[in-house]
Amino acid sequence: MKVDFLCIGAHPDDCEIAMGGTIAKMVNQGYKVMILDLTNGEPTPRGSVEKRIKEAKKAAEILGVQRITLDLKNRFLFDSIESRFKVASIIRKYRPEVIFCHLEIDAHPDHVQAFNISYASRFYSKLTKVPLDGDSWYPRKIIRFFSNHLRINITPSFVVDISDFIEKKIEACKAYESQFSSFDVEEYVKTFAKYWGLLIRSKYAEPFFSHELISLDPSSLLI
Ligand SMILES: [Zn+2]
Repeated sequence: MKVDFLCIGAHPDDCEIAMGGTIAKMVNQGYKVMILDLTNGEPTPRGSVEKRIKEAKKAAEILGVQRITLDLKNRFLFDSIESRFKVASIIRKYRPEVIFCHLEIDAHPDHVQAFNISYASRFYSKLTKVPLDGDSWYPRKIIRFFSNHLRINITPSFVVDISDFIEKKIEACKAYESQFSSFDVEEYVKTFAKYWGLLIRSKYAEPFFSHELISLDPSSLLI
């Protein structure tokens, strides 16, 4: 049941857009990865609940991850005790070492709330004497990803080279036909990843943000 990495997105497709290449890389390295969608993402202009479930399932299969979609409500997502308990239950059940979640600065209110819920749930998961099943669990790190409706440039804490996994990421993003039918998702993904890749003398990369310091192995400096 245990997973190494838990990626929490407000909507199906957020994690794929933000870190689909890193997810594919982690899976390729033998790590167990789970995507947790807080909502089913509906309603949207061209989607339906059935379509979104099918698309999210397909994207998870492409990336080789487990996926859980919670029943919190799209567009009504709010950091509440109820949402914290729901997410903390998943954290206790699957005991991830690291959580990935949204940035706290975003034009989409659901993403901001998803950030708050993720941070609070990580803490709730370790509490004792709370109405939660399972043993206390505190993921050692919480890292924020970039799936953002604000056109901003924030300096990341680190980037992950995804040059060998860009095609897998694009394939996973394209699974969301209802969301990207009038948007060139391939061009978006490549342009964004190329910029970050350029800064590390690589082809493609994804940025990540951490409030806490990340330690590096000397071998990482030789890449
Ligand atoms: Zn979203």
